[in-house]
Amino acid sequence: MSIQFKSITELRAMLDDKSISSSELIQESLQLAKKYKELNCFVTMNEKISVKKASSIDLNEKTNSTLSGIPLAQKDLFCTEGLRTTCSSKILSNFIPPYTATAVEKLEDAGSITIGKTNMDEFAMGSSNETSFFGNVHNPWKKGYVPGGSSGGSAAAVSAGIVPAATGTDTGGSIRQPAAHCGITGLKPTYGRVSRWGMIAFASSLDQAGPLARTAEDCAILLNAMSGHDSKDTTSLNSNVPDFLENINQPIDGLKIGIIKEFDISDLDTDVQACFEDSKKNYESLGAQFVEVSLPNISASVPTYYSIAPAECSSNLSRFDGVRFGHRAENTNDLNDLYIKSRSEGFGDEVKRRILIGTYALSAGYYDAYYKKAQQVRRLIKNDFDDVFKSVDLLMTPTSPNTAFKFGSKGTQNPVELYLEDLFTISSNLAGLPAISIPHGQVNSLPVGLQLIGNFLREDQLLNASHIFQKNSDFHLAKPNLEDF
Ligand code: GLN
Repeated sequence: MSIQFKSITELRAMLDDKSISSSELIQESLQLAKKYKELNCFVTMNEKISVKKASSIDLNEKTNSTLSGIPLAQKDLFCTEGLRTTCSSKILSNFIPPYTATAVEKLEDAGSITIGKTNMDEFAMGSSNETSFFGNVHNPWKKGYVPGGSSGGSAAAVSAGIVPAATGTDTGGSIRQPAAHCGITGLKPTYGRVSRWGMIAFASSLDQAGPLARTAEDCAILLNAMSGHDSKDTTSLNSNVPDFLENINQPIDGLKIGIIKEFDISDLDTDVQACFEDSKKNYESLGAQFVEVSLPNISASVPTYYSIAPAECSSNLSRFDGVRFGHRAENTNDLNDLYIKSRSEGFGDEVKRRILIGTYALSAGYYDAYYKKAQQVRRLIKNDFDDVFKSVDLLMTPTSPNTAFKFGSKGTQNPVELYLEDLFTISSNLAGLPAISIPHGQVNSLPVGLQLIGNFLREDQLLNASHIFQKNSDFHLAKPNLEDF
């Protein structure tokens, strides 16, 4: 029986009743990765080690870990000991980390097997996976279309059924938007829920790791393993981690969902609007109530993010200087020349643009006008969320204003076109709140995502509301046909 498109829950049952061994499962997953090489989801495979780990799992008797023997893929910005970690950048194209990121380590300690590292936008900057040094990732639903970004490789690998789940990171939408474009489920947890240790930093006050999977239930399984306090990350939350799987099946009678007045859905493609209206009805029939709410400062989210994120990135990326690790230019005259040439050769255009904007926003004389101002507006946005969560449990928006688009069709003349892709996702990063994207329809054979935003640390409510939706619909079961790959 093929393992392609199976969920973790289904694979667990197959492993437990011995209809498949972990070795067979890993072999099949690696085979699928080879078969769909043209999708370009993976930057580096981890074949030898994964085969070895699978056979040692097979030799050990019974496990009580749901993830034991399950293949996963990791976004290529999680450091993995002994396994190349590139951030899809030339500057790190030969970097082999000496340690493993906490989030990955926790997943591996739970018995899961990392079969490879997934392609992404360079340093997670992008919404289409077109900024990768290793080339575009195709959307499994349509060749030549973007998978979304920056976790495009992870989303495409799950969508194509190569692995049941993968890790991603989300600074302004990079888990949810590719999940939406590839027709899968993706969760950005509360800031601090998952340790950032060993995750190569883009914008440290916004970055958060989370799962991409076929179902909300599988996201809960991954989140259970990934979450928890880590003394190696000073921003990691020291709060109780509930069992996200345990409470996933609660009725949603009386659940109050807010619709954000400032997001004008009628501006969107009519088919995307129709999916949204249908999902509202669907939730109503399940017992939820909708109320209109106002977040007066939310329209400032995109400019606020595009001041803060580049500022933090310009500081974080200063460590890539050609001296300590990564690409080093040859034939340089002196130290300054080495810095300049290594960085000029090593970074792609979008990363350079962000470093320039960020350095400018942080420079003397402009700091107050841009960075400090953006942080003040960020606080106002956070306050707006605090206010609305006094009267609603969740907020609901589309994940993305549109479906996946063709390679090269957006942002080439004006990068702001691509920045606006994250219109609906960015505000929850600014406020540190959890949010999820679930599939809820298709337009022109391309998936459409629905976003739910939760209150601080209420991933349980997001996962529950998503699971109940998925129990009562079959959008998450739709599969790409992949015949062009
Ligand atoms: N698209 C946004 C950006 O380019 C968000 C990326 C992300 O979440 N990593 O910054």
